[in-house]
Amino acid sequence: MVCDKMKNIYGLSYEDLEKVFLDIGSKKFHAEQLFRWLYEKRVESYEEVTNIKKEVLDYLKKEYIINRLSIVDVQEDIDVSKYLFELDDGEHIEAVLMRHDYGNSVCISSQVGCNMGCKFCESGRRKKVRNLETYEMVLQLLMIEKLLGKRISHVVVMGIGEPFDNYDNLIKFFSIINHPKGMAIGARHITVSTCGLVPKILEFSEFPLQINLAISLHAPNNELRNEIMPINKVYPLEKLIPAIKVYLERTNRRVTFEYIMLKDINDSLECANELAKLIQNINCYVNLIPYNETNNLGYKRTNTIQIMRFYDILKKNNVNVTIRREFGGKISAACGQLRSKKEDL
Ligand code: SAH
Repeated sequence: MVCDKMKNIYGLSYEDLEKVFLDIGSKKFHAEQLFRWLYEKRVESYEEVTNIKKEVLDYLKKEYIINRLSIVDVQEDIDVSKYLFELDDGEHIEAVLMRHDYGNSVCISSQVGCNMGCKFCESGRRKKVRNLETYEMVLQLLMIEKLLGKRISHVVVMGIGEPFDNYDNLIKFFSIINHPKGMAIGARHITVSTCGLVPKILEFSEFPLQINLAISLHAPNNELRNEIMPINKVYPLEKLIPAIKVYLERTNRRVTFEYIMLKDINDSLECANELAKLIQNINCYVNLIPYNETNNLGYKRTNTIQIMRFYDILKKNNVNVTIRREFGGKISAACGQLRSKKEDL
């Protein structure tokens, strides 16, 4: 089934729906009813909706599809499951479910492919084909909840793609999944990760929902960051760090810095000291990420002892730092790995 982007019901925010109903001379409160059918009762067709007039439903049926995404592969480990979705145009994207003691967290994709070109990342091996539509982000969550039979409590936008390169669809996605009449996922349980698109960080600092922001930093100086993250040539640290400071000032929140530990690349003790200096006076956490080695890119993971040494230096410098618990190494759960396997890229 080919769907026009505005024609999928899961792409409409609560406010969009109110407008749709008003525009056809119907009542605004149908938005609340329909949101409940879609996101609480999880209907899969308009036939199941019982409290909205037939003429109104007939109109919706003509204009807005209630469709699903197909899940074409699932890989399971003890605390992690990975889903490969096929989109209506035959493209593939991935989402990962992580079972924590505090709930179920899902990592979703935001684009087909990615243009950011980070050297260590599997997703970037395929250039961006297109942005995901809002409904394609929403449906990753709904489909997983359906399979799981349990609620998703946390969402991270850290799968394939650069979410801030698909800003408008992303923002609408947030407003849908956060809406109290919909999935009602708390803003503080939602995290978006960016490689550092400065104008969008500034724009996001004005966004009213208190969604967590993570920055993929991965290097403490421009020379190294240019080498592994080409986006740094456009938005070098002297632009990125001040933008983060503006964000912190406007939102009164904390940011998380992600730092992948790549053997002999960015894991020296000098790098640790330099990192501590770079982020001093910034209200932040640092998340050290053991690199999930992929077959194709040649980078190696730092060994645990060196990660601990790096960690100690940050601690000594009063940095809030954690080492990310590892999920999904066995099932290729790092960004883009499952899709790469499927498409044999
Ligand atoms: N484009 C966004 C979000 C997607 S990547 C961003 O750059 O933040 C999500 C995170 O996973 C990033 O920090 C990315 O650098 C990291 N990542 C990519 N490949 C990885 C791998 N093989 N092992 C561990 N982390 C990886």
